[in-house]
Amino acid sequence: MSTDSDCLFCKISAGVIPADIVMETESAIAFRDIDPKAPTHILIIPRSHFADVTELTQSNPNLAGELLTLASNVAKLQGLATGYRIVTNTGEDAGQSVSHVHFHVLGGRSLSWPPG
Ligand code: 5GP
Ligand code: ZN
Repeated sequence: MSTDSDCLFCKISAGVIPADIVMETESAIAFRDIDPKAPTHILIIPRSHFADVTELTQSNPNLAGELLTLASNVAKLQGLATGYRIVTNTGEDAGQSVSHVHFHVLGGRSLSWPPG
């Protein structure tokens, strides 16, 4: 498993920086976003470091599938029965602010479309 000692989400995965973890597997963790944009806002990350979804899918497509499965399980656990959104911002134009791939799971309110 490859990690980056300077990466915020690698530090959360290692337990060096605390987070409110809601679910974890051998390869991934789900924790609450520190600045939630919806009543439920959870981040899904792999334990190993990939900069973004392009790097992840090119290096390990099976892991990408596992992350989406975890996102779906988290939505179920959180009771988001009336709907939820999975988002992964990629690169500068999309506003990606942490360079460790993550899927946002957002729910608990009506979500407008298109996003900004
Ligand atoms: P991005 O902007 O890259 O799509 O998403 C990064 C997310 O990480 C943001 O929603 C931000 O609130 C969240 N975040 C940044 N720092 C921390 C932190 O230290 N802990 C947690 N739990 N979330 C964080
Ligand atoms: Zn990382």
